Amino acid sequence: NRTLQSYLVESAENYPNKTAIHFMGKEITFQELHDSVKKFASYLQGLGLEKGDRVGIMLPNTPQAVIAYYGTLLAGGVVVQTNPLYTERELEYQMSDSGAKVLVCLDILLPRVNAIKDETKLEHVVTTRIKDYLPFPKNVVQPMLQKREYGIVVKPEHGGDTHVWINMMEEASSEYEERDVDPHEDLALLQYTGGTTGYPKGVMLTHHNLVANTQMCQRWLYKTEHANEVVLGILPFFHVYGMTTVMNLSVMMAQKMILIPKFDVDSVLKAIHKERPTLFPGAPTIYIGLLNHPKLSKFDLSSIEACISGSAPLPVEVQEQFEQITGGRLVEGYGLTETSPVTHANFVWENRRSGTIGVPWPDTEAKVFNPDTQEELEAGEVGEIVVKGPQVMRGYWNRPEETEQSLKDGWFFTGDMGYMDEEGYFYIVDRKKDMIIAGGFNIYPREVEEVLYEHEGIQETVVAGIPDPYRGETVKAYIVLKEDAKMTEEDLDQYCRENLAAFKVPKLYEFREELPKTAVGKILRRKLVDEEKEKSQ
Ligand code: ATP
Repeated sequence: NRTLQSYLVESAENYPNKTAIHFMGKEITFQELHDSVKKFASYLQGLGLEKGDRVGIMLPNTPQAVIAYYGTLLAGGVVVQTNPLYTERELEYQMSDSGAKVLVCLDILLPRVNAIKDETKLEHVVTTRIKDYLPFPKNVVQPMLQKREYGIVVKPEHGGDTHVWINMMEEASSEYEERDVDPHEDLALLQYTGGTTGYPKGVMLTHHNLVANTQMCQRWLYKTEHANEVVLGILPFFHVYGMTTVMNLSVMMAQKMILIPKFDVDSVLKAIHKERPTLFPGAPTIYIGLLNHPKLSKFDLSSIEACISGSAPLPVEVQEQFEQITGGRLVEGYGLTETSPVTHANFVWENRRSGTIGVPWPDTEAKVFNPDTQEELEAGEVGEIVVKGPQVMRGYWNRPEETEQSLKDGWFFTGDMGYMDEEGYFYIVDRKKDMIIAGGFNIYPREVEEVLYEHEGIQETVVAGIPDPYRGETVKAYIVLKEDAKMTEEDLDQYCRENLAAFKVPKLYEFREELPKTAVGKILRRKLVDEEKEKSQ
């Protein structure tokens, strides 16, 4: 029965001087964070924001991203998280679809916003810059900001419908009107899906959904309340995974979060070495990136205690190597935007089962249904995973048909194929949509990828079904080799033939320097398939 923002208020009351945010050397306490959040809320209300109005936040992991998020909630608004890498087309779609009234973005993105603004319901744009929170005194920062040489394309004018963050923070009062928010009924967030399989859909998440999932994270960690954890914030907060497991968890537990605005392996290793985080939520590609850094042994990673890996399958070799190097635990979990996001995870400290996504979280039920008859299947039988729990969304924004298809009697149909073993651990086989049908055979890309990952020369791989005039689809593997590895298509073919049934062996291989990825580092299979479709046209 609580709103998300009530946890910030509580943490600021109980731990005013504790560090909430560490950002490139700057430390912000819970008290300071709360003060800025109140100002942001007050300013938004001054712009005419009504309860339930949407506010777009298009920022990398910065203090502003946290302030704007909690400020919007405090003002009674609904957050719309937006990827700062969106093109004009994607941004216009999301702003129009959500009907956002205000957008907060980096000033360098203002030209992109201005180009689409008239096509949307946007009334106000707040611009900020990474430098607004760098740890320099104001008399040093101000003159710097006035010069144009700091990567500022357009220096936004404060006034009219454009608002400059630092001026806003100076002008705003801390008085805001408490709006009557019902945690079960009112939305906190419109979170667009990652877009791995199609156009992003707006997922309606209430305060109750988000609070429940954050509390589950807390329980999962097995720790007492308000422990002295330090969380590494590499996952972007504009994606639901980083938002819950880093930002909201840190605010709820009154713990420090280290914000990394842009993922690059060097700065992440340096941050771990220097700032000593204990928790590190991530995705497989992030851990793989770190493990392949040539100077890995020079960094001390021993502070890391617990990592949860989600968003894509975690290769067991990566898990083992990472644990050896850090001495911490890396466990696999699973979730979706529609479920705030986490529904399953392995236990951190005991009873872990590698290669599985673990067991359903507290208060969460999960079953496996026959996708055709929608009857429950026995343990060991592959079907669609369905889940029920307080973290399940209200539905898709403005998409009643899609909501009806995916939510039935409170069960959410995940679109992922998998099974449960006798002891209740869940296995993901693959996404329903990614299954390849080649010459009448069903092939799950993940199974082929797992075999490829076991090859010592392969750093990263993705397998896709690409259009084939005779077989419908054909299996193609995209490969990124490790730095010193040398390999030909013939070598790979022979290796796959030894380890896979003939119909699953890729017919085509392509070596690449890198693979396209989503914001959380999930390999974008769809993009590769689209490229193939374009080639064959
Ligand atoms: P869209 O739904 O728009 O196509 P998306 O799938 O990237 O985009 P997300 O909600 O970010 O949207 O991702 C959820 C999906 O991620 C799940 O349905 C599942 O396929 C995949 N996933 C998450 N965790 C795991 C995991 N541990 N193993 C395998 N797949 C996972």
